[in-house]
Amino acid sequence: MRCNCSRRRLGAAAFPLGGFLMLSLVAGGGPALSDSGQTAEPALTRLVAAYPDHLARFEGTTLIWRDGTRMEADDGAGVKPFEVWLERPDIKDMLHQPYPAGAEATPPPAKFDPGRARNAAFFDKMYGDCRKGGVANQLKPVAWLPKKTKQRLLVTGVNGIDRKLAAVSAELDELPATFDPYLVPAAGTYVCRVIAGTNRISAHGYGIAIDIAVSRSDYWRWSSPAADGSFPYRNRIPIEIVRVFEKHGFIWGGRWSHFDTMHFEYRPELLPAGSGH
Ligand SMILES: [Zn+2]
Repeated sequence: MRCNCSRRRLGAAAFPLGGFLMLSLVAGGGPALSDSGQTAEPALTRLVAAYPDHLARFEGTTLIWRDGTRMEADDGAGVKPFEVWLERPDIKDMLHQPYPAGAEATPPPAKFDPGRARNAAFFDKMYGDCRKGGVANQLKPVAWLPKKTKQRLLVTGVNGIDRKLAAVSAELDELPATFDPYLVPAAGTYVCRVIAGTNRISAHGYGIAIDIAVSRSDYWRWSSPAADGSFPYRNRIPIEIVRVFEKHGFIWGGRWSHFDTMHFEYRPELLPAGSGH
């Protein structure tokens, strides 16, 4: 019975936030004009702004990379059923669900997984294909909470993610010791693997993700579905930790109906302008 009430709660708190962010982005910088004279959609404008090292502009719905590569962001399939959206998203689909940055950790509506759909061609181009050795050679070490531990983590240097994670680490290092069990040690970062139950490369395979304390985390695959097929939401990760990650461009898997509360990944296109870049 959680779905209706949680949907109302999120609808009141989170979706206006996403709308506000889009409006504020347009008001602040003005909408980008494509070469064809059409106004680019705000979400596409935000995507380009989030990855300035790699993305140049949109021409209509064609994404132009700084090296001249052109990628069609819209496969023409329209609004997809949830499972198809997750399995075969185009670039526009990645931006379809608004990520509720800064919100409390409330149960997400059913089939609400903002950031969980990743277009493989886009991520392979940006970060490399780990199965071909294209990611490991770009990994950089990050000292994790150096005041509390000596752990070193490896994440990609692409988009300065090593520096972004170091900034997260420095802020988390200042939290009181009561947070330590959630942070020390971190569970892991880079590993070239597919997502459990799929053939899709995990965000960990791109070197853009970090998992924190497994023993204090909740994951939908570890839980039993309710009678309606949904997975009862559970979270033990303090929201203070989540907000530090979000400030520096990382989204949290605890905001997904298919929750993965140990998981954070660098996705600045889903966060307020200025987060992490
Ligand atoms: Zn993870």
